[in-house]
Amino acid sequence: MPTPVEFAGTHRKRFESELTDLLRIPSISTLPDHRDDIRRAAHWVAEYLRSMDLPVELIETVGYPLVYAEWLGAPGAPTLLGYGHYDVQPVDPVNLWTSPPFQPAVRGSRLFARGAADDKGQFMTLIAAMRAYLQTAGRLPVNVKLLIEGEEESGGAEIAAFVRSHADRLRADACLVLDAGMFAPGIPAITLGLRGIVTAELEVTGAARDLHSGTYGGVAPNPFQALAEIITGLKDKDGRILIPGFYDRVVAPPAEESEGWKRLPFDEAAFLRDEVGSTALTGEPGHTPLERMWARPTLEVHGMPGGFTGAGSKTVIPSRAGAKLSMRLVANQRPDEIMEAFASRVRAITPRGVRVEIKRRVGLGAPPVVISPRSPVITAAQRALGEAFGREAVFVRAGGSVPIVSDFAERVRAPVIVTGWSLPDAQLHSPDENLDLEHFHKGIGAVMRLFEHLAATKT
Ligand SMILES: [Zn+2]
Repeated sequence: MPTPVEFAGTHRKRFESELTDLLRIPSISTLPDHRDDIRRAAHWVAEYLRSMDLPVELIETVGYPLVYAEWLGAPGAPTLLGYGHYDVQPVDPVNLWTSPPFQPAVRGSRLFARGAADDKGQFMTLIAAMRAYLQTAGRLPVNVKLLIEGEEESGGAEIAAFVRSHADRLRADACLVLDAGMFAPGIPAITLGLRGIVTAELEVTGAARDLHSGTYGGVAPNPFQALAEIITGLKDKDGRILIPGFYDRVVAPPAEESEGWKRLPFDEAAFLRDEVGSTALTGEPGHTPLERMWARPTLEVHGMPGGFTGAGSKTVIPSRAGAKLSMRLVANQRPDEIMEAFASRVRAITPRGVRVEIKRRVGLGAPPVVISPRSPVITAAQRALGEAFGREAVFVRAGGSVPIVSDFAERVRAPVIVTGWSLPDAQLHSPDENLDLEHFHKGIGAVMRLFEHLAATKT
């Protein structure tokens, strides 16, 4: 009987072709036309797990079903809760794809298809690792619960509700969220922090109707001028947020994390040129760009609807104007508190002559999450990734939010390993999305090692 590692080695082609089958299903959750395809993808995953003799449940929601499976044959050993999503992003602009998005194609060592990296090619490494054990040893070193969702790209509200109401059933000693990526080619990474987010809309009303700017200019309040004053009263030119109390709960990252960031191969000039493409980076002096993106909160304006935006000119003082904005939060800021402090600051600096209405977009909120680098679960993951990739896994954070991570952290109350095998140029959400197949197989190896290291861990 081969070992699990040998099995994975001799079944590389099989795992690749199974992934390819799943990638052919255009499970785009944001487009109603693909409703049947999304169900087809859910059934494909469920059938695949059943073929491993696992009990599988398709959990219906008002949205798309959750696929749940478990293997609990290792009493006394730790339990790992794995997460992935079988839905994908839309493919537009489809003409920019070198090969059709749902006809997977290999060029060089890379597999190109929508969903190759986000997220089918990532969570399938966990399932493949399980198969390698179950078909050889007949058992896993740890207990595994799997929760694969179908609406990560379209809101993910259903899984949040499920995690909240089924915390007992999902109880685990460690969670594995395979929906992040590597720091650079060959350098695996574990994401130890995610910023939270609160989003808001301001609507400012001045005069009772649009007014002629010749007749009334100089006396009538202009909502855009008011919004400009409000916005600059929220954040100064050094990127410092001017909301009283905003920084009160902010905690700095532990030294082992921030020291590690200084050693990362991060080229600020190349980042400015190739990724940002502007003439300068902005933000708080005294913090490096990585610190500013990963461990400092911010406030950004996304759009300012209102007034005259057609061709030519119309000399008007608009009656109303709006601003859509969001704040990215870091540990230990609390979304509700921040929203309150934001609202009172806006009221305090709203100039006379205008009224402001503050609307919070509740659906789009998430608290910040940090995971301790000292947790034995993270140590096990770091060893597993380091051994599989032949290079030490680095600790990073992400500026964005992955709400499932805070749901797991809050409800399952176990350390969350946030990682993955996609590269920075995997073109997530863009044309030519891809996954390096070498990393796919190393990912399978990393998950197998993670099983072993977790089994040896006192959690
Ligand atoms: Zn994803």
